[in-house]
Amino acid sequence: MKAQVFYQAEKMLLEEIPVPEVTETDVLVRVKNVGICGSDISYYYGLSPVGTPTGKGPLVLGHEFTGEIVKVGKVPERLGLFAQGDRVVVNPVQNCNACYACAAGQTHLCENMSVPGVNTNGAFAEYCVSKYTGLFKLPDNVSYAAGAFTEPLACVVYGMKKLDIEPGQFVVIFGPGPMGQMMVQMARSIGAGKIVLLGTRDYRLQIGKKFGADYIFNTSDKHSKYY
Ligand SMILES: [Zn+2]
Ligand SMILES: [Zn+2]
Repeated sequence: MKAQVFYQAEKMLLEEIPVPEVTETDVLVRVKNVGICGSDISYYYGLSPVGTPTGKGPLVLGHEFTGEIVKVGKVPERLGLFAQGDRVVVNPVQNCNACYACAAGQTHLCENMSVPGVNTNGAFAEYCVSKYTGLFKLPDNVSYAAGAFTEPLACVVYGMKKLDIEPGQFVVIFGPGPMGQMMVQMARSIGAGKIVLLGTRDYRLQIGKKFGADYIFNTSDKHSKYY
């Protein structure tokens, strides 16, 4: 299969590598859409180590993805959970369900966490392996492209819950990147009063306005009409 293999800062090569094997608890996904996360960019430029024991490649990056199931391991097959052709979105933070932390319900402290695209091969490839416990079926009315936003959207939902915005409250969002754009929409739907969006690039701020920001300000470009 074709895969983008990351080796070291600014070195990522399109290569032919074997389609990954599936164990009894895995599912093989044919990747349909994959997002480029801020952390993928950090890895690519060497600003942050990848999650392998050495912190280095070779590693296939990409963890925000949707796809179609092409092979189901024995366990999920026996449980009747997934079948070939299912449309799925992958939760890339995959705990093992077998260590003490997992048994105690503290799955975020799992000793054997596997994260496709961070410490195991990810989705900048034609196929990617996922644990069957890290998969969700994608509803028919959610496209593969929209579904690839599930993980970043989940982060936004969590952040918004922590903020605990009450209807009518004034909200300021710093940064009109993908996360900021989702935050604008979520703040709007929660019932925020006025929403202010701050950024450094007009085209992104304008998108934010479309998504529901009342006021947009460019904090760095003196020639911007939003400065
Ligand atoms: Zn991400
Ligand atoms: Zn575990």
